[in-house]
Amino acid sequence: MAKEIKNSQETSAQTEVSNFLRQIIDSDCAHATYANRSDSKGNILPSVITRFPPEPNGYLHIGHAKSICLNFGLAKDYAHLTNGARCHMRFDDTNPAKEETEYVDSILDAVSWLGFDWHHNGQEFQFYASDYFDTLFAFAKILISTGKAYVDSQSAEDIQKNRGNFTQVGSPSPFRDREISENLDLFEKMRSGVFKDGEHVLRLKIDMSHPNLVMRDPVIYRIRHAHHHRTGNTWCIYPLYDFTHCISDALENITHSICTLEFENNRPLYEWILNELHQAGALKAPLPHQYEFARLNLTYTLTSKRKLLQLVQENYVDGWDDPRMPTIVGLRRRGYTPESLQLFCDRIGVSKADSWIDMSVLEQALRDDLDPKVERGTAVLSPLKLIIDNFNAELEWCSAPKHPHHEDWGRRDFALTKELWIESDDFMPDPPKGFFRLFPPKDGQPGSRVRLRYGFVVECTGYDIDENGNTIAVRVNYFPDSKSGTPGSADYKVKGNIHWVSVPHAVSAELRIYDRLFTDPHPASGDKDFLTLLNSESKKVLHAFVEPSLAKAMPEQRFQFERHGYFVADRLDYSENKPVFNFAVGLKDQWKK
Ligand code: ATP
Ligand code: MG
Repeated sequence: MAKEIKNSQETSAQTEVSNFLRQIIDSDCAHATYANRSDSKGNILPSVITRFPPEPNGYLHIGHAKSICLNFGLAKDYAHLTNGARCHMRFDDTNPAKEETEYVDSILDAVSWLGFDWHHNGQEFQFYASDYFDTLFAFAKILISTGKAYVDSQSAEDIQKNRGNFTQVGSPSPFRDREISENLDLFEKMRSGVFKDGEHVLRLKIDMSHPNLVMRDPVIYRIRHAHHHRTGNTWCIYPLYDFTHCISDALENITHSICTLEFENNRPLYEWILNELHQAGALKAPLPHQYEFARLNLTYTLTSKRKLLQLVQENYVDGWDDPRMPTIVGLRRRGYTPESLQLFCDRIGVSKADSWIDMSVLEQALRDDLDPKVERGTAVLSPLKLIIDNFNAELEWCSAPKHPHHEDWGRRDFALTKELWIESDDFMPDPPKGFFRLFPPKDGQPGSRVRLRYGFVVECTGYDIDENGNTIAVRVNYFPDSKSGTPGSADYKVKGNIHWVSVPHAVSAELRIYDRLFTDPHPASGDKDFLTLLNSESKKVLHAFVEPSLAKAMPEQRFQFERHGYFVADRLDYSENKPVFNFAVGLKDQWKK
């Protein structure tokens, strides 16, 4: 198993090595590799152009966020160059069956929400590989004409079988030496719809005994009578990834084409195709280069669109934006901010070696981002009534800072009354040693004293039970001269400090408490069936009481609920009449062993 990275010290060690891409770009800038280029209209081109090239076949996940932060981030970092730098948004949409406009829209939303955009000097750089279908077709014909591609009429199974394997060289197709004119004719016929799916393919003529299997005459076009989300029924042949990607990069004048490590073996093919087209005069130098980095693997979750789709389609989660999903829409609904995801990506860095990042690193980035910038609030998740027997006033106003380190943000005011809601586990009728919260008098000893946060010190005098013996109310007396912030209040020394909301003022709220989606740190590795490793406790809905000001939150406003953790007003379901908050992350790492 690859190395596992568990905390930010380890991630910073990782970032040390992470600038290998920056070193490459710096060196290209120093050598003017991509300087002095201009586009077909004569405009000077930036010396650094990256791209983010998702396939619109699902919602983006945290792994894509890494690629987005990397590609768009490099363009930002090198914006100071004389001709600037930019990152293109490109949809790699050459597979008609799986791609949909819904996904295109969600991807654009996710990238802009993360804080990036694909405009440069007032121009938009959004592209679709499908825009290049005509050019790709023309380039394929150039390769046929130079004897570098041929139409193969073997079945898919025979092509696979004759490719050989690591120990055995491949055997050439009986169609490998077709005449150029016959190849051109057949390829045109493939395009015009004369053949059925699978009858022919177009292959490059490279080397059937090449040690790298990718180079054994790869297929670059296949027949697919299918509707495409953008080109409709115009095409019935579609180019494959290896052919499309490098050419799209070259057509867009990309300089550094950054992809994940599994494409390392495809790099020679990337170079082969571009060089052949360059030699044939179809493409101008300098050509783009491919560089690989390690994909993000995050524990307790999945980073595969296909598997995430399965969770959605088979209703294991409540949709792509379920707050337990590692999708960008899911993380957003969970309370993650764009800044927290960028911070996470900065911390994990970019390396050339595969590793696993522990989920706690992501959670810590959220905490670190939210702590200084969100207001505090009070929520009682599991309410138990507290009655202050000697409190005879109607109410007493108390107040707390909106943020402990930002006095300038002002204060929240809330009423203290005779009856309060407290957390049921802040009281124990018969506590073990070391329990510092509320417990009743016992064996001649008085009951415990605690401070009601921002209010008074109270002493427990007893508790009420129902006919089944369940505690239904805790009884206390308060000390009128102990109010927080008043002279002498500090003379009361108490070990417990509990939160509360006034019964008549409390607002009921739905709190959705989320936990990790899987119980296993690597739910999809080896031959594990991830569907059997789902955490059955990953979602709980609580009917809680919150302080009145929390009924006036904005959807998507984030808070720290004191003593509990960070919550976000649900962006879809929250309203003043029915406040709904999602649990984002705890105050501390609860999973730490
Ligand atoms: P999936 O396996 O989830 O479908 P993919 O790689 O097929 O992912 P694409 O839409 O092709 O998804 O990916 C767009 C870009 O995001 C690619 O450049 C890809 O390398 C990158 N990417 C995808 N997953 C990760 C990941 N886990 N870590 C880093 N980058 C990723
Ligand atoms: Mg892909």
